[in-house]
Amino acid sequence: MKGEPRLQPPDHGDRYRHTRRHADQSTTRVKVGNVVFGGERVVVAAGPCSVEPGGSLLRIAQAVAESGATLLRGGAFKPRTSPYDFQGLGPEGLQLLAAARAETGLPIVTEVLDPRDVDLVARHADMFQVGSRSVQNYPLLREVAAAGLPVLLKRGMMTTVDEWLSSAEYLLDAGVVGVVLCERGIRTFETSTRNTLDLNSVAYLRTRTHLPLIVDPSHAAGDASLVPALSRAAVAVGADGLLVEVHTDPTQAYSDGDQSLTPQDFTRTVAACRAIARALNRDL
Ligand code: PEP
Ligand code: MN
Repeated sequence: MKGEPRLQPPDHGDRYRHTRRHADQSTTRVKVGNVVFGGERVVVAAGPCSVEPGGSLLRIAQAVAESGATLLRGGAFKPRTSPYDFQGLGPEGLQLLAAARAETGLPIVTEVLDPRDVDLVARHADMFQVGSRSVQNYPLLREVAAAGLPVLLKRGMMTTVDEWLSSAEYLLDAGVVGVVLCERGIRTFETSTRNTLDLNSVAYLRTRTHLPLIVDPSHAAGDASLVPALSRAAVAVGADGLLVEVHTDPTQAYSDGDQSLTPQDFTRTVAACRAIARALNRDL
């Protein structure tokens, strides 16, 4: 197996040796194509939840690129709660993503669910997404770490910050080229929204780790009408980027239509976030 597990006796050194921020250390920059996470510029990754058949991905990609997104998201392998729901287009979805990149120039971030698909996904994508349900799948983490692409590591819906950072340690210990953390909301007693967006973690992790950290307001809210405000809040609290679901026809989306912004709402959201970024001496 790639990224060999440790076979030695327990190691009582610093358990956060790769992720810990030391005094005066700046945020590590992670490059994905021509996009840099962790620099002055707030990165916006956007696109549909799932890659769908036909031309919709390309239309969405063109729309989000025009509004200021610099990375295209879209799932070809979907982690669905029910086995009866759309599971993603698989390899065909990866080809559609690569075609959209060729057309728009946007690098691709897409989820890899199964360790057996890591090499296939690596041949089509620019960045792996490890999703909320997979953040503690340690064999998957070792496999993606060895595949030569940076990783967008989502927070598990039930993981503490320490557990999340430990997953990042797995990646870094196995030699990954770069890790970007993504806060996407956690399960709490609150049921009025899909998840509870833990913006504490963004402020806290800035002190705790040198890794860049972005926010996914879409899965946090589960409701498109809340996404603009949560996006603004994420930039205000100091996130290095946003991951936003956008669809040209959210009512027809194969997954997560309720939380997907239209291109028009996305454009307005990006403009508001840009003003906040500039007020904080950043740009977007
Ligand atoms: C997604 O990005 O579409 C997704 C499934 O996200 P999460 O793993 O955060 O639920
Ligand atoms: Mn989704």
